[in-house]
Amino acid sequence: MQKITVDLVLRTLKKLYPNAKCSLDWTTPLELLVATILSAQCTDKRVNIVTKFLFKKYRSPQEYVRVPVSELERDIHSCGTYKMKTRAIQETCRTILRDFKGEVPRTMREMLILRGVGRKTASIVLSTAYGLIEGIPVDTHCIRLSRRLGLTRQKEQGKIETDLMKKTPRRDWAMLSHLLVAHGRSVCFARSPKCSECVFKKTCPSSTSLRPAERATSLPSRERGIQGKLHLKKKRSSPS
Ligand code: SF4
Repeated sequence: MQKITVDLVLRTLKKLYPNAKCSLDWTTPLELLVATILSAQCTDKRVNIVTKFLFKKYRSPQEYVRVPVSELERDIHSCGTYKMKTRAIQETCRTILRDFKGEVPRTMREMLILRGVGRKTASIVLSTAYGLIEGIPVDTHCIRLSRRLGLTRQKEQGKIETDLMKKTPRRDWAMLSHLLVAHGRSVCFARSPKCSECVFKKTCPSSTSLRPAERATSLPSRERGIQGKLHLKKKRSSPS
């Protein structure tokens, strides 16, 4: 069976999602940064509804800093974890004003100084707003799909990013993430992936369209061992 590589995933998904890109609405690097902070544990659709109003009301870091905490909390309430996000936005804007002359910084090292900004948020803002590729934005879709497709065996976000960075041409780092997100939203759902409709149904080691035996041989050997043991256990416990 053909092994799925990053190259194959890029080629296949680029054809399937030629317009894959960041789905948050923004017009300035600050807007994108705020939207990305709001998107943690929230859908981009909900964030876009909230920012439609928010970006008309707040147009600079000064305005986010000046507003009373309770007012900003109310404005972003429906994005969830609003207290934490309000603190992150206000402290980030304070740092931007104090240390970066009011501009969203342009390096990973500087971005990571900002409160509430991790490598994922920094990579999204740097690549989308400035075209600077410094990392792969590894979100929940990216984690799920890269593991299901067998692109990585790592489990932690940071280790998955490092693994994918080694296997992916730098120019495609941001695109790989956009494509995996697009496929995760349309086909490879977290709960019930539509494997029978998926372009990888014949090669993906996690495809439910494969017969169990085929799926087992396409899994990495360690996982094959675990599945074999489970199968035996089931057989022994089933009535004859
Ligand atoms: S075959 Fe199934 S598990 Fe594999 S990528 Fe497609 S939808 Fe996801």
